[in-house]
Amino acid sequence: MLRSLHMKLVMILVLLIMSLMMVVGAFLVNSVTVFYLEDFYTQIAEVFQSRSLYEDLTAVTEESSSESAQRMAQVLDAYAGKLGVDGRNRKLYILDSSGTCLIRPEGDTAPLEYTRNLTFALTEGMKTMQVGDESSVAENYMDVAIPIQRGDNRFVIYILDNKAASNHLTNQMFVLIMEALVFGLVISVLLSFLLSRTIATPIRRLTEGAMRVARGDFSNKIEVSSRDEIGVLTDTFNDMAGQLQDTIRQVENERNKLDTLFLHMTDGVVAFSREGLVIHSNPAAARMLAAHIGAETTYGDLFEGQPELAQVMEAPDHLEGELQVGESYLQLLMAPFDRGQAVGGVLVVIHDVTQQRKNEEMRREFVANVSHELRTPLTNIRSYAETLSENAGRIPADTEKKFLGVILNESDRMTHIVQDLLTLSRFDSGRDDLKMSRFSFKTAVEDLYHAVYMEAKRHNHTLKLELEPDLPDLVADRERILQVMMNIASNAIKYTPDGGHITISAGRCEDRVWMVVDDDGIGIPNQDRGRIFERFYRVDKARSRQSGGTGLGLSIAREIVDRHQGVLVLQEKEGPGLAVRLELKIEGPANG
Ligand code: ADP
Repeated sequence: MLRSLHMKLVMILVLLIMSLMMVVGAFLVNSVTVFYLEDFYTQIAEVFQSRSLYEDLTAVTEESSSESAQRMAQVLDAYAGKLGVDGRNRKLYILDSSGTCLIRPEGDTAPLEYTRNLTFALTEGMKTMQVGDESSVAENYMDVAIPIQRGDNRFVIYILDNKAASNHLTNQMFVLIMEALVFGLVISVLLSFLLSRTIATPIRRLTEGAMRVARGDFSNKIEVSSRDEIGVLTDTFNDMAGQLQDTIRQVENERNKLDTLFLHMTDGVVAFSREGLVIHSNPAAARMLAAHIGAETTYGDLFEGQPELAQVMEAPDHLEGELQVGESYLQLLMAPFDRGQAVGGVLVVIHDVTQQRKNEEMRREFVANVSHELRTPLTNIRSYAETLSENAGRIPADTEKKFLGVILNESDRMTHIVQDLLTLSRFDSGRDDLKMSRFSFKTAVEDLYHAVYMEAKRHNHTLKLELEPDLPDLVADRERILQVMMNIASNAIKYTPDGGHITISAGRCEDRVWMVVDDDGIGIPNQDRGRIFERFYRVDKARSRQSGGTGLGLSIAREIVDRHQGVLVLQEKEGPGLAVRLELKIEGPANG
């Protein structure tokens, strides 16, 4: 760049000087030639128009033309100095009217060339006595042919100059011009160095700065050394680089924000190019789609059976789709971006709606269950009441009593269900506050033991209580925790055939207390173990209902224990029956 700029400057200056020299040289050479030509004619005219030469020539009156020519030559010889005739560079000839050369300089043997002026004087001039004095600057000679009449004879005095003097001068001038040219060239080279330094150095600095900016290095500003156009350009460039840096920083900032958002958002996001290749995806998308997403992954690989990419690109706003991956239900929202541009593509947002689906399903099931659970006692109440009313006075007293007993039982069951539902609804809406207090865990377990002892006896169960020594006091809602314990223990009694063995054990483990109710009853099949904490879930509906169960007891218990940040689980055990384990924090829930 620098070299080429330098070369350009050298070339410009050389061409400038050469053309200047050529113009000046041509002008000078032409001026000198014209001056010599004009001077030649002026000199000849002055001499020939002088009275003395006229008188001298008039005195020549010889008879023969050769004699006359001799005489005229002698006369003109006397004027040789004034005419500049030296016989070498400027020669004088006298010709007769036929063009025969009568007088020529001594030693001049070359044939005389009949130039335009001489021919004119010998033809036209012989008649009109007009002088032939029109020499061209371009010719390498200048001449004048003067017709003259002596007596009856007509002659032509012809003076021919070979321009030696003018050529000599122009040659010298040419040499001078060449010298000046060489000198000028040397100066131009030196000048170009200087100029290229002053012009090219700031340009080079600007170029280096621009290259740094192109590499993304905005650390240094370019020094502004002058106030000329390059200085202004450098200044503007610095401003532009500054603004570019700000913009890039802002864009990077936005990108970082978006990257963080993409990285941590729970919804999956995958962006595809117009060609259907993945441009961007977040970890959530790979997790939800259970697929490895790389640069080679295509739209078709991930969303087979969904709206085509071209369809999405044409969509006015967005398209929706749904996908099932394993157990998960995914809702897809597909929208085109930068549609009109080559860089555009499609953005797919993946939302996991599995829980939503489950909740909906559970809600539906719950409503169906509630209706069913309430309908059964209602139907019973109605049919018994109907029978009593239709057969009033005809039914034996003990049957009537039995019927009324069923009605009371069923309404109790309904009340029970409604109460349980109310409890759950209070938990769901967060309206049920725990009444925390510190109480003896040991006493609570012992109370439970005594409370269920009679019931266990009725079923011929062997009820054992195993307590670790030094059980600590516990911070919890005593009533609620007792409700949980009671539920677990009653279930053990209910679902163990008469004559079973039930053990209530309790102890402490680090910052928690635990209680396990272990029975050797009917137990729970493996496939149902995960579901018994769900609302209304019962392994054997008939048996549960028979024993007055609502299927809500364990779900209420789980709800209460969760609110205490405790644990209520089925414990693995050997042999038949079930072991339910309750764990509670000694100091109560962390925020409670
Ligand atoms: P229920 O009011 O029907 O007893 P629960 O929520 O207390 O409702 O229990 C849910 C279901 O779990 C019961 O219907 C029963 O099938 C099963 N279950 C609970 N405890 C036991 C147990 N100790 N042994 C066997 N099955 C049990």
